Amino acid sequence: SDAAVGFIGLGNMGRPMVTLLANAGMNVVVFDASESVRQAAASDGLTVATGTAEIAATCETVILMLPSSDIVDSVVKTLCDEPGRLVSLIIDMSSSIPDRTVSLAKRCAGFGVAVVDAPVSGGVARAKTGDLTLMVGGAAADVERAHAFLPLLGSRIIHVGEVGAGHAVKALNNLLSATHLLATNEAVLAARKFGVQPSVFLDVVNTSSGRSGSSELKLPNYVLPGTFNSGFSASLLEKDVRIAVDLEHALEMEAPISEAVAARWKDLNSRLEAGADHTAIIRPMEQDLGL
Ligand code: NAD
Repeated sequence: SDAAVGFIGLGNMGRPMVTLLANAGMNVVVFDASESVRQAAASDGLTVATGTAEIAATCETVILMLPSSDIVDSVVKTLCDEPGRLVSLIIDMSSSIPDRTVSLAKRCAGFGVAVVDAPVSGGVARAKTGDLTLMVGGAAADVERAHAFLPLLGSRIIHVGEVGAGHAVKALNNLLSATHLLATNEAVLAARKFGVQPSVFLDVVNTSSGRSGSSELKLPNYVLPGTFNSGFSASLLEKDVRIAVDLEHALEMEAPISEAVAARWKDLNSRLEAGADHTAIIRPMEQDLGL
């Protein structure tokens, strides 16, 4: 339909995603809590709402790209509380807590609002090109509705289960991502101390069995050049690892590897400045080695 689509959360990821929707001819109405972010969006020609209530009243579908489940819950409450609401589908593309998403969907159903979770992987680079991987949770009919928007944002769209399943898969994916990054950093630092250049080490690993997204992309693009500008913060990844470990505990699993990664990530991140990129996690590791 020609009805507007709402988009809330115009951060590192949300902003390029909105551009893709607008470039596809969608009538997008956006909102962000930050005034400077709203001003930048308006000067780029986007339609900026006065608040989330206006989005609830003018948009059938609302997409969220927000930092945490706490913020998602509070924003969704304002959407459902709007007496003149038009919204009937909320797509939460944030990396949220799966159990919280299940409860959120139940509350929203009481307002006649369906919830689909469709968190993303691929980072800012792939958000810009619409080449994200989307892991989708929800009832088939709701997921079908979400398909009016999702193919504009992602090139791999995988329906992984009921509502909340997308968020579970996302947290577990990022647990692996953090594990690979810490393990690859340790191995690179060991190689370096032994006298092997990091780039030489990665040449071997990337055509061998030790390769991963960290060895193939993160170290070459952001860690070794020292740019640390992937656009994904160390604190957001810490949140994701926490979600994954809590999920494993809730499933009554022993998870020693995940727990070690969570503890190590938290400790190293506490030594970075607020807002630091996740690829900068190698810096305190280097400090400890006097490198
Ligand atoms: P970000 O911090 O850059 O952006 C979040 C935006 O939400 C900010 O502009 C902030 O002002 C806004 N916001 C906060 N509270 C709000 C509220 N109450 N109402 C309206 N707006 C509010 O974060 P990001 O990197 O864009 O990540 C967004 C989500 O996507 C997170 O859940 C993150 O874990 C996930 N994610 C990020 C990446 C990445 O590479 N950056 C990749 C995949 C998934």
